[in-house]
Amino acid sequence: MQQFAHYIDGVFETGSAQFDSLDPATGKPWARMPAATPADVSRAVAAANRAFRSPAWAGLTASARGRLLFRLADLVAAAAPRLAELETRDTGKIIRETSAQIAYVAEYYRYYAGLADKIEGAHLPIDKPDMEVWLRREPIGVVAAIVPWNSQLFLSAVKLGPALAAGCTVVLKASEDGPAPLLEFARLVDEAGFPPGVVNIITGVAEAGAALTTHAGIAHIAFTGGPETARHIVRGSAENLARTSLELGGKSPFIVFADADLDSATNAQVAGIFAATGQSCVAGSRLLVQEDVKDEMLARLKAKAEAVRIGAPEHMETEVGPLCTARQRERIADAVARSVAEGAKLITGGAAPQGDGYYFPPTILDCSDTPDAPCVTEELFGPVLSVQSFATEAEALEHANATPYGLASGVFTRDLTRAHRMMRGIRAGIVWVNTYRAVSPIAPFGGHGLSGHGREGGLAAALDYTTVKTVWLRT
Ligand code: NAD
Repeated sequence: MQQFAHYIDGVFETGSAQFDSLDPATGKPWARMPAATPADVSRAVAAANRAFRSPAWAGLTASARGRLLFRLADLVAAAAPRLAELETRDTGKIIRETSAQIAYVAEYYRYYAGLADKIEGAHLPIDKPDMEVWLRREPIGVVAAIVPWNSQLFLSAVKLGPALAAGCTVVLKASEDGPAPLLEFARLVDEAGFPPGVVNIITGVAEAGAALTTHAGIAHIAFTGGPETARHIVRGSAENLARTSLELGGKSPFIVFADADLDSATNAQVAGIFAATGQSCVAGSRLLVQEDVKDEMLARLKAKAEAVRIGAPEHMETEVGPLCTARQRERIADAVARSVAEGAKLITGGAAPQGDGYYFPPTILDCSDTPDAPCVTEELFGPVLSVQSFATEAEALEHANATPYGLASGVFTRDLTRAHRMMRGIRAGIVWVNTYRAVSPIAPFGGHGLSGHGREGGLAAALDYTTVKTVWLRT
């Protein structure tokens, strides 16, 4: 079995404790992963604190930090096939998705590399003739970055990129489910030439995450994961009073009006819910469709869902692979069964196939008469689409906002003025109109309510990793 290592203070170590990582396509162990103990976490935080103050890092100019990030971006791009293969093997995410996403990951590092020397302070025109007052933007300190399994390279790039550009140091905890791509990425950090301790990468279960986020040496917690874990983290941060940014779940509405281009809406909806086997925080998991086109939309979606090629994630022709864990598959099957028991109508899918691997088929449920069914209200993080119909724009908005989440949303219509009204009315951090899932390093990404707070991407994300120092000088 392949053995992976932690990266702490510039050293690769297999650790005192270890666990087996399972291949989601077979359910069989394929690699040994190190499991961070509280002592490992403490060493990593201590190394990051030393590095934060070291001349080798704190003494670098902003453009020198940018050059290190540019080098890292190039190394990520060059290692794309290996990183994609490892992510596919360890998480079950299909190779065509992991390959495409890694190109993006390199772009995010490039974007923040270019921003490193554009994080500026200010001079204040104070009303005192004998005083000069400046604001200095300084790095906040050591960042605890925690990611879930579904897109670890991407979700860590949106934390590491801005944090390193700002001059912070980082302890990154990969998810215990599928950590291989991030542990391999540590080799690229090393090769890029970051001083020891600037980036530390570990993995382990919830206890390791809790030891990290409650550590006194942490100044900022950048977390992506579920709302329940976020609550633990926020409670824990009462000890170190670290800042938090939280990217949590979603139950995103995908709204189709009768005047929409139904070809484009259907394709976007299929990708919007079934990509990554539904394990995506922005999954368009609630289709809200205007009554007049409901039957047509359902027929189109059923045909597409049943034609999807389900198979081994490492094959380029596969369109839907396994879920990451057996636990995830059980959760999804249970929510679908409960929804059907409550009266939701199963249009397609619904039952896990026999055999190895954590497969679950694309599933569609008509929940027009069961608005409180689990498939409508709970984030399932799986390939399950609930459908509800509406008559008017007001009703569409009411359904769209009937959720404690507020991450993403989609609106399909040819009526531009309606698109504007919907854009204003939807409570979500992202509104995609006549498109879905578009992302860019330049565009902020995040939500509110149970979807968390803080934004990743864009210039503001780099400022989040800084603190302002006000300097008064009597002349
Ligand atoms: P999770 O919250 O269970 O775990 C996420 C990470 O937190 C893991 O690394 C885990 O080990 C760690 N963790 C668990 N308990 C902890 C604790 N007490 N203290 C510190 N760390 C702890 O999430 P998951 O089930 O692995 O991931 C799925 C969730 O992530 C979904 O809700 C999904 O929507 C969300 N997500 C959000 C985004 C976004 O950008 N908004 C992106 C992807 C996934």
